[in-house]
Amino acid sequence: MAVLPQKEARQMRAAQVVDLPEHALLPGFINLHTHIAMTLLRGFADDLPLMEWLQNHIWPAEARLVGDAFVHDGTLLGMAEMLRGGITCVNDMYYFPEAIARAAAASGMRTFIGCVITEFPSAYAQNAQEYLEKATEVRRKFYGKERISLVLAPHAPYTVKEETFRKIVVLAEHENFLIHCHIHETENEIRQSVQATGMRPLAALEQLGFLSPRVTAAHMTHLIDEEIALTAQRGISVAHNPRSNMKLGSGIAPIAKLLQAGANVGLGTDGAASNNSLDILADARLAALLAKVNGSPTAVSAAEALRMATINGAKALGIADQVGSIETGKQADIIAVDLGTIEAAPVFDPVSQIVYATNREQITHVWIAGEHLLKERRFARLNESELVGMAEQWRAEIRDSGRNV
Ligand SMILES: [Zn+2]
Repeated sequence: MAVLPQKEARQMRAAQVVDLPEHALLPGFINLHTHIAMTLLRGFADDLPLMEWLQNHIWPAEARLVGDAFVHDGTLLGMAEMLRGGITCVNDMYYFPEAIARAAAASGMRTFIGCVITEFPSAYAQNAQEYLEKATEVRRKFYGKERISLVLAPHAPYTVKEETFRKIVVLAEHENFLIHCHIHETENEIRQSVQATGMRPLAALEQLGFLSPRVTAAHMTHLIDEEIALTAQRGISVAHNPRSNMKLGSGIAPIAKLLQAGANVGLGTDGAASNNSLDILADARLAALLAKVNGSPTAVSAAEALRMATINGAKALGIADQVGSIETGKQADIIAVDLGTIEAAPVFDPVSQIVYATNREQITHVWIAGEHLLKERRFARLNESELVGMAEQWRAEIRDSGRNV
């Protein structure tokens, strides 16, 4: 369902008219980097450094739990949270893509399913070759399905071998895949790469011919000036995850410099285990504030932060002609934000108000492709109490499975 010019819209006999005089209408937010199923691990292990968090807590828990049911249920829970926070499109990265696709179909969310590729075995696949084969297979199965796209998601330069990156470059070209990868998340990752190969991860990827407009690079902290220029030159999109980067102590991505260099920067929440909410509006505010923190109050304006949360995400995913702004001919992925509240009054500038003074609780209505999925904060398709009950059941199971380790 598309956005029509006023004249045409007035000629249509509408099945439903929604009158929202005190609301601002915005394009839906795009979450450019997350691991939705990890919503079930929200608050499971907090306040730890990235590698300790991953190696001693998250990866062992995932090894015990991750399967079709965990991924489906966690993804559905996360999609419900995102919908109510005004997110209409998501670029995910996780295992069991078919479980993600089922949750996407149930929720109505526009979903880019990043099929993880790593050298490490999981319940989903044994080695990089198997991950790659399965990604191609699942892609064929879901090709052309409305609101669902499959993406190759090599986990990171420190978990994927050079030869696998080479295969990914060839496969992406051949099958026209987008690519989603963690790059330069921490200083430690860069240091280890330099020790092992003499090169920083981005330089190593450049040498492999990996860097292209197909790539969305999550994090990109600790970039030197040459790397900022290279990011813009190669047309890579950056998924900036300010809250996850802060919580894991990973650093601050140089967003103002990247934007100035002409790079495309969108926003991601990362998984709920490292954020701890899938709230793009909160990350948009942080992106604007963090860019200013060292003495640059004019860096990353409210309008820029809002573009990062909407049209820039659409550009990264190659769908800027369909979503990311409210324009005639585009899909009606639209959210309504209530600005008639105490917290938002008075409204001098709606953009400033939305980025700096509004919370996701003020998002009352959400449409995806014209389908009204959130009405006065109530789900049209999903059952809130069932989802909360399901999450509680998983909490008990996650806690009990940890006791036996
Ligand atoms: Zn991540």
